[in-house]
Amino acid sequence: MGVAGGGFDATHLANAATRGLRAYDPGHDLPTLRRRFGARIAELGSNENPLGPGQLALDAMRGALKDGFRYPDPRGGALKTALAAQLGVGIERIALGNGSHELLMLLAQCFADASHSIVHSQYGFAVFPIATAAAGAQAVRVPALPGDHAHAPLGHDLAAIAAAIRADTRIVYLANPNNPTGTWFDDEALGAFLASTPRDVLVVVDEAYHEYVDAPGLTTALRFAGGHPNLIVTRTFSKAHGLAGLRVGHLVAHASVVAVLERLRESFNVNVIALAGAEAALADRAHLQRSVEFNRDERAWLRAELQSRGYRCLPSQTNFLMIDMQRDASALERHLLERGVIVRPMGGYDLPQTVRISIGSRVENERLLQALP
Ligand SMILES: *Cc1c(COP(=O)(O)O)cnc(C)c1O
Repeated sequence: MGVAGGGFDATHLANAATRGLRAYDPGHDLPTLRRRFGARIAELGSNENPLGPGQLALDAMRGALKDGFRYPDPRGGALKTALAAQLGVGIERIALGNGSHELLMLLAQCFADASHSIVHSQYGFAVFPIATAAAGAQAVRVPALPGDHAHAPLGHDLAAIAAAIRADTRIVYLANPNNPTGTWFDDEALGAFLASTPRDVLVVVDEAYHEYVDAPGLTTALRFAGGHPNLIVTRTFSKAHGLAGLRVGHLVAHASVVAVLERLRESFNVNVIALAGAEAALADRAHLQRSVEFNRDERAWLRAELQSRGYRCLPSQTNFLMIDMQRDASALERHLLERGVIVRPMGGYDLPQTVRISIGSRVENERLLQALP
């Protein structure tokens, strides 16, 4: 055998769905940047909680280490029971994922195939088109609201999304609030959307930033769960709970939806440490409140500082701000990178005029402001 397999190339062996995909683009080589900038780095590219995990979660995770030689509970019973109690739903309506990313993928894999279409908004969360392609389904990408829209520039156009639903549509993916735009729609708009959507179309509302929301008129899609069995709500421990590295997400759906997902879900998809950390994080209301209040105050401060320097920020109900440069933003992004300030370039989202900046610690946010040209 040749050293590198002698001319062998598996590219053309990939199945049709995978052939159309590209590997995840992490934006930057973070390990290298961390070595280069050391403690002077400001990591504002991935919407993580700058306060980190709370003490209760840390203690629980440390305590769970000794169980690391055992497989985790494949049903995630303790975490699901805690979630069910907090959300006021039956345990049979909850599924756990290795991050909500896994659940978004699993939904398409279990419910759609090449004979179906999946609808999502232009500038919707990046996982939606990947899940669609991986299922071999056809993507229907609905144009976003215009960039000068009063409430939700570049956000979801629910009326257009409703109109784009076809006879072969199986899933609609919505993110509320949305990443990368930070924009949102209110309960009333979602209610009208759900009322107009056929029951055999699964409406997935990704609420990764739910805990940060304080906009009037927006609570949660869960309030519509009773009347709409086709509604699925996904949440995550990666953002406000500060556990992005642990990989835990969950969804609430009709019990029959969960039962279908359970057929394909990897049996041990959420590990021992993550289950313990998430359960403790859920109980730690004080840490969550601290995280949300810190984000609210810091986001208002950073927005004002950026605006006073002439940067245009989109409205945000999340832990990040989207800056619209109204010209190619890659020069700004590179300028910041050279100074150890990592933000998320948006070329991959077809938004090359914008950058997405996570709300960091005060030290990181000040580094950002100092590094601006
Ligand atoms: C960060 C994020 C997620 C969370 O992904 P995890 O896999 O749970 O870490 C999901 N949806 C959106 C819109 C996000 O921004």
